[in-house]
Amino acid sequence: MNLLIFCFAGKEYGGSMTDTIRFEDLNLDDRILRAVTEMGFEAPSPIQAQAIPVQTEGRDMIGQAQTGTGKTAAFAIPLLQKVDPRDKNIQAIILCPTRELAIQVADEIRKLAKFMHGVKVTPVYGGQEISRQIRSLKDGCQIVVGTPGRVMDHMRRRTIRCDHVHTAILDEADEMLDMGFLEDMETILSQLPEERQTLMFSATMPDQIRRIAETFQKDPVTVRVVKKELTVPEVVQYYYEVRRDTKVEVMCRLLDMYSPKLSMAFCNTKRQVDELVGELQGRGYFAEGLHGDLKQMQRDRVMNSFRTGATEILVATDVAARGIDVGNVEAVFNYDIPQDDEYYVHRIGRTARAGNKGIAFSFVVGREVYKLRDIQRYCRTKIIPQAIPSLNDITEIKAEKIMDQVAEQISGSDLSRMVNLIEKKMLERDFTSMDVAAALLKMAMGEENEDISESGVPRWLDDLDRYGRGGYGREGRGGRGYSRDGGRGDRGWDERRGRGGSDAHRDRSRREGADGMVRLFINIGKDQNIRPGDILGAIAGESGISGKLVGSIDMYDGYTFVDVPEENADQVMKAMKNARIKGKNVRMEVAH
Ligand code: ADP
Ligand code: MG
Repeated sequence: MNLLIFCFAGKEYGGSMTDTIRFEDLNLDDRILRAVTEMGFEAPSPIQAQAIPVQTEGRDMIGQAQTGTGKTAAFAIPLLQKVDPRDKNIQAIILCPTRELAIQVADEIRKLAKFMHGVKVTPVYGGQEISRQIRSLKDGCQIVVGTPGRVMDHMRRRTIRCDHVHTAILDEADEMLDMGFLEDMETILSQLPEERQTLMFSATMPDQIRRIAETFQKDPVTVRVVKKELTVPEVVQYYYEVRRDTKVEVMCRLLDMYSPKLSMAFCNTKRQVDELVGELQGRGYFAEGLHGDLKQMQRDRVMNSFRTGATEILVATDVAARGIDVGNVEAVFNYDIPQDDEYYVHRIGRTARAGNKGIAFSFVVGREVYKLRDIQRYCRTKIIPQAIPSLNDITEIKAEKIMDQVAEQISGSDLSRMVNLIEKKMLERDFTSMDVAAALLKMAMGEENEDISESGVPRWLDDLDRYGRGGYGREGRGGRGYSRDGGRGDRGWDERRGRGGSDAHRDRSRREGADGMVRLFINIGKDQNIRPGDILGAIAGESGISGKLVGSIDMYDGYTFVDVPEENADQVMKAMKNARIKGKNVRMEVAH
């Protein structure tokens, strides 16, 4: 078989950062371009840029790229160019290994087809009532996305008819092979019309997958993103497992804790850039955004402001940030995990220039830890998991910084006049020297006089507080309220701890699972450097139930008990089955 291999290796591929192909260059239908814009995609990812033209030509194709590189749109865009919305017959069948993926792929295609009226996508998978799927299929749909077993089932029932299918797509073919779907894939492919386009996406190419390609594809083009060796800059790299809705808070904590003079934050979409800039500005940070929608003049203004330090946080997409070289960026935030491993290296390379020290923070949500693992493997680098800093941690670090300055004063200057003054005041007012030192420290740390109100605080923060994490974020709102060597005060936290909320919580948790709650056992605890918030985050993130529903979390050295509502217990245990917390595999079961 004649394989045409496109290799994007070495310099060529490296050049893609400076020589980006735009969606506009790919001859796309206007309606798809509009959808892509609305989804906030700034530029096609490497696999998209290479695979879309090959498919548009009508060739069969094998696409090889890692997870999270945008393969779905890489096949969905050319497919939508081809589908006839007026024809209500099934024109394309997409096979996915799991129900989740089938749903996800169907959703992504719907988003891309938003402006193409009449295109219908139906996901079919085991576990959902078949009659419902049959009804949906009967309504007329052009694209079916399904797991192999269920697709075969429908084919047998003739509720999926294949005579008009012109495109077959195997998504994550190697994964389907691992799950034992080899025969099913072959059966389905052999029942499709001869005259068709067959596309296959697979991260790896085991022999059986190669054989499917040989049997069912015609002269396929292989599009493979081969990566060049990369030198990873000397940057301290940390990652934090977060929930999507806690990213901003975590970022603010890190900003306050490390107080970098200049930092860059990277997002994957233009929309996310705008959102994050809004959030940061709303909290009083000097942040500006940079993305492809800005006119040259705006871009220049933002860059100048960043260079002079008037803007302290530059939020950008990968594409918009290319070529930016600002000397003293101290921290890089991977607010979104990059789409391409190579971007990661480009991103963190923005810091630690000219021998300076640099630090990079990556936020991972749920399954993105796998993506991070890929990055570490590919870049041969270590990204260290970190606990989200509590307000306590932040306070401590700030105090440490102030104490360094104090030490400098003590050793470097004559303080006798001050000593006399303090002695006099202590006598006058009946203070101890400890009182005075503590009060001065608190003032130096930026204690605020703002009214601290309960309102406007996200629920999850209260949740975190209940479990002893810092409740932070209210002080700074609406004003910077934070100075270089000072910081946001910890009053809110102290006060709320003082209210005794956490004691009440502890009392309740001593009982064996509160009313209507099931107590679950998890095989990790304090010894594994886990905090209650990590567990709360993992449960909410993995199972999709609101953090509010989670009850007591009782941590012990090697294990933890957590209460969840009876009706969510199964869902939680199922979702946590393959989950990891802080990179550790966990086992969860009902406590006895
Ligand atoms: P893969 O199938 O390669 O694992 P996905 O297709 O699931 O990756 O894409 C991962 C994420 O990236 C999705 O949220 C998707 O919407 C997003 N995405 C895809 N293409 C782009 C792009 N060109 N720019 C920004 N985000 C993108
Ligand atoms: Mg995929």
